[in-house]
Amino acid sequence: MKLVGVIGGGQLAWMMGDAAKKLGVELVIQTPSKDDPAVSIAQETVFAAVDDADATEILAQKCDVLTFENEFVNLDALSLLEQKGVCFRPRLAALAPLLDKYHQRCYLRDLGLPVPQFFALEQQENWQSKIADLGFPVVLKSRRHGYDGQGTFIIHDLASLQTFATGLNTNQTVSQPSFLVEEFVPFERELAVIAARSVNGEVVIYPVVETQQEQQVCRRVIAPAEITPDQGAVIEAIAHTLLNSLEVVGIFGIELFLTAEGKVLVNEIAPRTHNSGHFSLDACETSQFEQHLRAVCGLPLGNPALHCPGAVMVNLLGYENSHSDYQRQRQQLAAIPGAYVHWYGKTESRPGRKLGHVTVLLEQPHQEAANIAQTIDSIWYPA
Ligand code: ADP
Repeated sequence: MKLVGVIGGGQLAWMMGDAAKKLGVELVIQTPSKDDPAVSIAQETVFAAVDDADATEILAQKCDVLTFENEFVNLDALSLLEQKGVCFRPRLAALAPLLDKYHQRCYLRDLGLPVPQFFALEQQENWQSKIADLGFPVVLKSRRHGYDGQGTFIIHDLASLQTFATGLNTNQTVSQPSFLVEEFVPFERELAVIAARSVNGEVVIYPVVETQQEQQVCRRVIAPAEITPDQGAVIEAIAHTLLNSLEVVGIFGIELFLTAEGKVLVNEIAPRTHNSGHFSLDACETSQFEQHLRAVCGLPLGNPALHCPGAVMVNLLGYENSHSDYQRQRQQLAAIPGAYVHWYGKTESRPGRKLGHVTVLLEQPHQEAANIAQTIDSIWYPA
């Protein structure tokens, strides 16, 4: 497998660039804009939206195997290509139960994995009794195309939910999203784990990390998470069950809640490389991006272990509309001892947009992470 087609050309595809060079693999990217990060590392780009299956057919003609950096694809249209022999890794059946958050929750529950209580908010349905079981607040999530907290709403009382549902009943058209309702989990911490599965069914699991979200967007990741061996074992078992049952080939990211009682619940599955695994670029023997390409190309998997005691990864989120390249701040960040700055080369900054990240390797992650993250934030965000 020498030519890998990647559907999506954002930072996740861009970060595959160095790994591709190392493995002697060429990347061909499908992405809409010449300004998208991965265009700069691609051998060739098919300029089209990720859900344009005709463009994916062209991509397939140029490549040995196709993979995803973005899962918002048109699975029905792609399945015609798969039937014609196009090799997708992971295969489309591994994505199918995950793209709709309600279907994803049902799939996880049916596998026996622990998930928050949930139900689908249908039109004109008598949902009051179901809500009574959950109690307020509840979390309302758009079933499709949610990311970085887009389409996720915390609803505090029945009146607000009624207003929301009335809006749905009067406005809902075919093109409007339907929603999933779930219990609000008063988690003690959020965790995540990256796992990979090879063509031969070998599974490797990265160290479990703690993720910290603000306004539902990931701000920082601490590796490894401070968890008990039992919790670690539960999380590893979840990863094994999930990747094996879907017969995944490639990397999956699994987001988790840890409750005050020490119980682990699965929040969400990302069927691709994930923000919570960016620390692996600088802190692990094999990065998640190399691991993904190894799996997709049918190579043996690499060692996912940390090569240092730990690390903190901080996202550099846009805070203004600008075309600046923020060189001064990037230089200051790079001067932090043990820091690696990754700048995605986006030409336009917007509030909340992921522009880059910094990973700092740490001797004592749990003592040092909070201070270092604060230092990074104080350099990056204007006072
Ligand atoms: P997205 O796909 O937009 O990232 P998530 O489901 O991961 O959406 O939710 C984003 C964040 O919102 C989570 O990391 C968590 O902080 C919060 N959140 C989501 N679901 C719940 C829940 N059921 N209870 C409490 N907080 C939640």
